[in-house]
Amino acid sequence: MESEETKDEAAAPAAADCSYCGAKAQVRANTIDSILGESSNRFACPSCFQEHHRFMLERLGTMDAELMELDKATQMEALRQLSDETEAHMKQWVKQRDN
Ligand SMILES: [Zn+2]
Repeated sequence: MESEETKDEAAAPAAADCSYCGAKAQVRANTIDSILGESSNRFACPSCFQEHHRFMLERLGTMDAELMELDKATQMEALRQLSDETEAHMKQWVKQRDN
């Protein structure tokens, strides 16, 4: 069991489940949390990670210009909201995918 262990920081621990659909997780899904300097232990399977990433980049793309105008505290607040929004989106998305 230990022979295939990787030290890649992006890799999920062998025992981790996907935080969104419960499948076997392969990567950490805490991109926004890392920006905020908070480490969460959320993991994702490849399928969920892809959607998580896509949604976040899309949202960040539309927020970018505005974000630059804001002070640091407000930026953090906006990112925190985006994080919540992403979580909510993922729950919906998994429901649809698995139906
Ligand atoms: Zn998943």
